[in-house]
Formats: sequence, structure tokens, C-alpha cells
Amino acid sequence: MIADNLRNIKASLPEGVALVAVSKFHPVERLMEAYDAGQRIFAESRPQEFAAKVPLMPSDIEWHFIGHLQTNKLKLVLPYASLVESVDSRHLLESISSWGSAAGKVIDILLEVHISHDEAKQGFSPDEIPALIEALPGLPGVRVRGLMAMASLTGDIDLIDTEFSAVRRLFDDIRTAHPELCDHLNVLSMGMSSDWRIAIRHGATEVRIGTDIFGPREY
Ligand SMILES: *Cc1c(COP(=O)(O)O)cnc(C)c1O
Repeated sequence: MIADNLRNIKASLPEGVALVAVSKFHPVERLMEAYDAGQRIFAESRPQEFAAKVPLMPSDIEWHFIGHLQTNKLKLVLPYASLVESVDSRHLLESISSWGSAAGKVIDILLEVHISHDEAKQGFSPDEIPALIEALPGLPGVRVRGLMAMASLTGDIDLIDTEFSAVRRLFDDIRTAHPELCDHLNVLSMGMSSDWRIAIRHGATEVRIGTDIFGPREY
């Protein structure tokens, strides 16, 4: 049951760690079950599915976008997302900033860091991040709230530990180098169903959980 799953996960989350319910591929009836159990932060990964679900759900939901976003799909996502977690290229970062400026808004985003040893994962390499942070004064339509990362899909706990601790170190380094950003650059999004318990040990402030809440996705 979705309500039981949510209750069990919340009981294990330290205070101050946000639970993001990853609802991709699940029908809105399932999302409503989570909503009725008190869940208010949801995340989707495909622009069309995101834009279709938002108007069907209550308006007090905080929507995050966590999938690959092409610049020709910005209008499906940016008007509704309170956080775009998956900014994975400089071109996308600049495009979101331009969109935000044109709309008179500042769009909250996370920089996605490529940390895993899996080939397919998107994101910046850790050594690209400092230069992006330096470039922010020229990108007034975005506000970087922090980092998002995915660990390797592996049973090797030591490897996952190493990856999450590297992201955590990068996050701490940015905050140390830029005290002026610390007030809002305070989100470290890492951990999914298979590894969120490890992620919170490394200081995740937000975990993104799908399967452990909703069960297996129907592809
Ligand atoms: C699908 C997805 C998740 C959730 O995955 P589960 O294993 O179902 O918890 C988390 N983060 C991202 C970026 C995803 O695409």
C-alpha cells in the first residue's frame, strides 16, 4: 500500500530530509493515493507526461523535474516546475536562464553531477562545476539550489559510498568557496529506492524515491 510505504520511508528519514515521490509511468490515481496520504512533493522525468499530469492533480503540489530536458521542451516544464533537478549541460543552463529572464522569473535548478561508473548517465563532471558556479552572475534567470546525482546501479556498497561521498565533498567545497550563495544553495539530491539509505548517511537533503513508494513501473 502506498500510504504504508510512505509512512515507513518517512519513519527512517532524518529530520530535514525531503522525500520526493517519483511518480513517472504511474497513473494519476496512484499519485492521488500518495497525495491523500499527505505527500506533497512529486517528480516526473518526461516533459509530456509531466505537463499532462500537473493539471490533473491538486494545485498545492510541489513538482520537480528530474529527466533529460531538451531545450525545445522548456515550455512544457518550466511554467510548472518548482525545481528542475536535471540540468546536465551548459547549453540547457543558458537556455533555462534565457527563458526565465524572458518570463520575468528566476528558475530554481540543480546541477546534475555525473558521478557513476555507468556509461549512460547524464550530467557534468565534478571538475566542471566550479566554473559553472563562477558563471552564474551572467545567468540571472536561474538560481542554483544545489546538486543532484545518481550512483552506479550496483550491489557494490563501497562503490556507492565512494560516489556519494565525492558528491558530498563537491557540495561542501562549493558552499565553502561561495558563502554568499549558502542561503539558497542548500539542496543535495541523491538516493533512490536502491540506495537512499546510503545517501542519507552522506548528507543528502532530499531523496527521490519511486519504486519503494509506488511499486514497479509499468513500461
Ligand atoms: C526514476 C528515477 C528515480 C527513482 O527511481 P526508483 O529506483 O524507482 O526509486 C530517482 N531519480 C531519477 C533521476 C529517476 O529518473
